[in-house]
Amino acid sequence: MSEQPQVGLIGLGTMGAALSLNIAEKGHFLAVYNRTGSVTDTFVQTAGDLAPRLTPTKTLENFVAAIKAPRVIILMVPAGPVVDDHIDALKPLLGPDDLIIDAGNANFYDTERRAKRAQNEKFGFIGIGVSGGESGARHGPSIMVGGTEADWARVAPMLEAISAKYDGTPCASLMGPGGAGHFVKMVHNGIEYADMQMIAEVYSLMRDGMAYKAPQVADVFENWNKGRLASYLIEISAKVARAEDPISGNAMLDVILDKAGQKGTGRWTAIEAQQLAVPVPVIEAAVAARNLSARLDTRQRGAEYFGDAQKALEGEGIAAKTLEKALIAGKILCYAQGFEMLAAAATHFGWDLPMPAIARVWREGCIIRSDMLNDMATALTNNPGDNLIFAEPFSGLLKDCEAALRDTVIAATKAGIAVPALAAGLSWFDSIRTRRTSANMIQAQRDYFGAHGFERVDGKNEPHGPWAGHED
Ligand code: NDP
Repeated sequence: MSEQPQVGLIGLGTMGAALSLNIAEKGHFLAVYNRTGSVTDTFVQTAGDLAPRLTPTKTLENFVAAIKAPRVIILMVPAGPVVDDHIDALKPLLGPDDLIIDAGNANFYDTERRAKRAQNEKFGFIGIGVSGGESGARHGPSIMVGGTEADWARVAPMLEAISAKYDGTPCASLMGPGGAGHFVKMVHNGIEYADMQMIAEVYSLMRDGMAYKAPQVADVFENWNKGRLASYLIEISAKVARAEDPISGNAMLDVILDKAGQKGTGRWTAIEAQQLAVPVPVIEAAVAARNLSARLDTRQRGAEYFGDAQKALEGEGIAAKTLEKALIAGKILCYAQGFEMLAAAATHFGWDLPMPAIARVWREGCIIRSDMLNDMATALTNNPGDNLIFAEPFSGLLKDCEAALRDTVIAATKAGIAVPALAAGLSWFDSIRTRRTSANMIQAQRDYFGAHGFERVDGKNEPHGPWAGHED
């Protein structure tokens, strides 16, 4: 029997269509609207058993009218002005206690602004980060919610129902008010960039350093997926390395141009980390590597002018076990930096970000899902406020894997194979274990040219060097 929907979704693209079917499958009746009306028709016509739960509409007025108040309206449209345009268009149509949910990849500052503005309106607004791509949206994404406790209480039953489950626990949680959900999603994407980059770097060591063919790479990744590195990204890396190009019959990987795309969320993470003064060099290296990958002409010219950088690794190369340990270490360091950034944001924005819950919602449904995140959730619960590298099992793993990471970075550097993310992780790890860094030189330079002063190791109150008047 058909009921009047209490939920509506706008934007039946890749994510919106999948999410609508997921919502309908969980028993909700749903009004749907898409800018291009024919897309709405095709969507409902191909929805099979779920079609009776869907109410197609062709105008925003009909869409809103089709939903029973108080309404929940989900936007799944491109981030940016399109979201503002929809809020403006919906505004005169909405009633008291209606709630707009922006489920796209909004910049968290936009979500903060929209949530604040909505406080003066009769309707509510929340921003949620949804991860897992099309398949996640259809069968269970990871959902990071920004809003009040009351907003969360209202949407939790539906969001928990449609979310991924890890051992039966929904991967959907309230992260904090305003833009907190989209902030956590942004850092998730930054970590995703870094995770992907480090996997690509070990692939490069196998392909360029040891002449592995793609199926051999697939064997290695498949094997790793049974151990500590078990994760969605390692699983799909094995699958893409195994695939053949239906056109040429060659390995699929070998016919794909080495020019990586991006939608900008990794870049946002790097920028925001700088604003917060939190070092996240693994993520920054991954973003820079994507930017560099796009510079095909420069790389071509560089290879011609200076000679190809890449050479075979010395001797027998690097054992797969060593590469695995290097990747384990790199991954821990990258997540430690990501969680440190989240902690800094919590302080800066006055959010009470639930660190263990963040690790828990990332365990299933999202692109960075991995077994290691389960241990991270436990570590963050048992060691609140501490950096992950000091918590077991990660401190023990780092001690065990450090030499492998160092050997890998050294071998890669000697062979001219760029491993920027792994090297950045190692450098960060070395830096945070250095009792006396070289920043005394920076302070001396700053004092010399700008009389900025410094603190002395002996505590004496003499904040300037003997170079006053020598600023030549
Ligand atoms: P698609 O390009 O597949 O779909 C975009 C949808 O928005 C379509 O329904 C399109 O309608 C509509 N739309 C686009 N421009 C306008 C406009 N100016 N006015 C009205 N409607 C418009 O995008 P996705 O589904 O991939 O992404 C949607 C959101 O989800 C984005 O914010 C994205 O960043 C985010 N996201 C995407 C993920 C992914 O893996 N794809 C993962 C997580 C989040 P029409 O049919 O008329 O063009």
